Amino acid sequence: MTVHRHAELGASKTERWTHCPGSVRLCRGLPDVDTPYAAEGRRAHALAENWLTDSGRTVTSDGDEMITAVTQYVEYVRALAKGRRLRVEVTFDLSPLQPPQEMFGTADAVITGGRRLDVVDFKYGAGVVVEVEENAQLLYYVVGALVSLWEKHHAGTTFSDPVSPSAVMVWALSQFDEMWVHIVQPRAPHPDGPARSWRVTPDRVLEFVAHLMLKAGATLDPDAPLHAGTWCKFCPAQAFCPEVKRFAIEVARTDFSVDPPAAETLPIEVVASVLTKASVLQHWLTALEARAVAELEAGRPVPGWKLVTKRPKRVWNDPAALLEWYRGPKSDLYADAPLKSPAQVEQVVGKKNLLPELYSYVSSGFALAPEHDRRPAVSVGPQQDFPALPPGTAAGPSAEEQDA
Ligand code: SF4
Repeated sequence: MTVHRHAELGASKTERWTHCPGSVRLCRGLPDVDTPYAAEGRRAHALAENWLTDSGRTVTSDGDEMITAVTQYVEYVRALAKGRRLRVEVTFDLSPLQPPQEMFGTADAVITGGRRLDVVDFKYGAGVVVEVEENAQLLYYVVGALVSLWEKHHAGTTFSDPVSPSAVMVWALSQFDEMWVHIVQPRAPHPDGPARSWRVTPDRVLEFVAHLMLKAGATLDPDAPLHAGTWCKFCPAQAFCPEVKRFAIEVARTDFSVDPPAAETLPIEVVASVLTKASVLQHWLTALEARAVAELEAGRPVPGWKLVTKRPKRVWNDPAALLEWYRGPKSDLYADAPLKSPAQVEQVVGKKNLLPELYSYVSSGFALAPEHDRRPAVSVGPQQDFPALPPGTAAGPSAEEQDA
């Protein structure tokens, strides 16, 4: 598995440090937030890298779901790379662009050939749907892929004068007629499907580089401001960040003056305002919990809190010993195998061979989402249960009344 370096201004943290320049100062020296989900994501990436490079090494997967998701990603990348050059886990360094401090990252897959550049990012997470358009992390990867191409092409060349960042970019951009970024996120439902693409123009790349360098410079200011938002989710400074604390106090002060009132009694505008701010607070509370667990695991007391074991489940010590011991039919010991999901059966019979009439898309209900979410809003409410009344009926105004 590739070992990743972590830069303060690394690509995977772009959203955080471009929105919150003060976070770089606050996070200095702190380890990255590590969760079971992050570890699971690393295993899925290792498996994908293994399959794409066909290195023959084996990587443990977490079962069918991981294999299904990784297969989807690998098939997508292989189809895109047919007859072209594929590089996986491409580490790049933006030093030819003379950034104010070290900037680098690792792109999951970079495909070149036919004067076209494709950068593919695999997202194993299911909790947060990631959009491809204007995705800062992916734009960073495009810049990285272009810069690494320039470096490779000019390796061993001696320049009489230092090459300017704009000359590097202009040369690299001239190598392509088309540039595309892709996200493959098999486990998070999205109206555009598990794989989404966005075509990036050379002008947008140049504009992004200027923005990136400006924001990178802003992080060096000793008074760089803190700005809380959705990007706080994976910030290691959450548990003690003064801006998140200020946010919490603001919610408490402005949205309800004393104890939290019953949800039914609040004006809907207040409900909406609290929900918007609460997403930041939820991340903060999760970080507080993780911090308390880490303290207790290290043997340090946390007043009023303790670690307890999760409810134990009985497990077989040795399944072979059980089979030997049981005198009845062995089938008594096995539960029925669950039916595989449509996605899993698709892996068996092939994507094109699964008859669409055999399955349906069934949602388990509604989920609350912020207005900027790209999924279409569902129309529900009493007006959906009744047909529109004709104009001029007792309950509906006539055309004249409407005009009046
Ligand atoms: S928790 Fe949020 S506001 Fe605080 S430093 Fe991190 S990103 Fe910035």
